[in-house]
Amino acid sequence: MIKIFDKSKCSGCHACAMACPKSCISMERDDEGFLYPNVDLDRCIDCGLCERACPIISKNIVSSDTKAYAAINKNEKIRLQSSSGGIFTAIAEQVIANGGVFFGAAFDEGFDVKHICVDNVEDLTKLRGSKYVQSTIGDTYKQVKSFLDNGTEVYFTGTPCQIEGLLKYLNKKYDNLLTSDLICHGVPSPKVWQEYLQSKSSSKVRSASFRNKSFGWGNYSVLISFEDTLEYKSLAKDDKYIKAFLSDLCLRHSCYNCVFKSKNRASDLTLADFWGINNVAPELNDNKGTSLVLIHTENGKEMLERISSGLVIKAVDVDLALLNNPSAVKSVEKSKKRNSFMQKIESENFDKLVEKYTKRTLLQKVKSKLKRTLKKVFK
Ligand SMILES: Cc1cc2nc3c(=O)[nH]c(=O)nc-3n(C[C@H](O)[C@H](O)[C@H](O)COP(=O)(O)OP(=O)(O)OC[C@H]3O[C@@H](n4cnc5c(N)ncnc54)[C@H](O)[C@@H]3O)c2cc1C
Ligand code: SF4
Ligand code: SF4
Ligand code: SF4
Repeated sequence: MIKIFDKSKCSGCHACAMACPKSCISMERDDEGFLYPNVDLDRCIDCGLCERACPIISKNIVSSDTKAYAAINKNEKIRLQSSSGGIFTAIAEQVIANGGVFFGAAFDEGFDVKHICVDNVEDLTKLRGSKYVQSTIGDTYKQVKSFLDNGTEVYFTGTPCQIEGLLKYLNKKYDNLLTSDLICHGVPSPKVWQEYLQSKSSSKVRSASFRNKSFGWGNYSVLISFEDTLEYKSLAKDDKYIKAFLSDLCLRHSCYNCVFKSKNRASDLTLADFWGINNVAPELNDNKGTSLVLIHTENGKEMLERISSGLVIKAVDVDLALLNNPSAVKSVEKSKKRNSFMQKIESENFDKLVEKYTKRTLLQKVKSKLKRTLKKVFK
């Protein structure tokens, strides 16, 4: 049966809980706000199905011949509302037009992030846009299975660990299933997200965007509206939540030791920002957002063909495309200050805490200046 001795070996995907025939695994939050499985030993029959469904204990063997594309959605309005090039929306619209359903991460009423099922274009906006918080899978894997068994086309989106969890749970190939994962930096704690929101206003949140493009795709900003009419807006580089996220202070333990990072994936396709686009396809960069699309399977290739009339698209070399996106293949390093930061998140002022923990020492500043100078000299 599942027992978590080392938190870095659990991504919180819910596959074990969904696979248990006795429903005796509950997902419970730890002190940091992340969900982990907990087995009710009195009801467990020691069948081992949870371990077989776990994408970390029984990792999928992945072999795909990945192809890479730079792509933008021709619908500029949709692209501006999307984090990158708006490819997720293009696929979701296609699936809906075919009578299908899709799953992805949305804010709930309290602005926690949860996976939901959508079957119409109006609700598509709930899933559009990156939410830099771990999304709770809940019982969506079970819902997916039920749709698939009924012959409905299903498009499931999520982080690589969520996609691999779904595939392990299903344990069977379905031709009516399409999956897309992301190039994933890692997921911050839902508790840190809530502490950050409360530090901005005690009023309820009305809307939140992590990737507002009013200053451009490369210079994105965070925009949050509260019911007391306060509107908070900050360039991402100055925002304390994004600073904590990108300084790797508040990610799940498994994200520092991620087994899902690879050029080849179990998903049908991977969506990402095309960072470094100017070195590969500058003609596709207008600073409104360009996607990197990696195609891993025939199913993924077929979907790209189905949506291609709505896209501007160019095939590119996969290794060149990944040069500026190290999170595709490599986990971020665990900051030595991470655990101490997480322990203080409830008791200290959010902005001051992040400022304190991201301040660079004199030695760090000298080191990075030296690095930059050496780079210039040996160029
Ligand atoms: C936590 C996280 C880390 C990321 N790290 C990187 C990175 O290091 N490099 C990179 O190039 N791109 C990264 N991305 C992906 C990138 O931000 C875009 O989501 C992606 O390029 C798709 O953009 P789009 O314009 O096609 O669609 P959009 O409409 O912007 O994206 C919507 C899609 O993202 C999914 N999504 C949103 N939030 C979450 C979440 N919390 N958990 C699971 N799925 C979610 C939705 O379900 C939907 O499928 C990350 C995304 C997330 C959520
Ligand atoms: S061993 Fe079987 S019964 Fe026990 S927790 Fe795992 S799946 Fe459930
Ligand atoms: S990774 Fe997923 S399946 Fe494995 S123990 Fe964690 S929640 Fe369960
Ligand atoms: S970094 Fe790895 S473990 Fe963390 S959310 Fe992304 S895919 Fe999952």
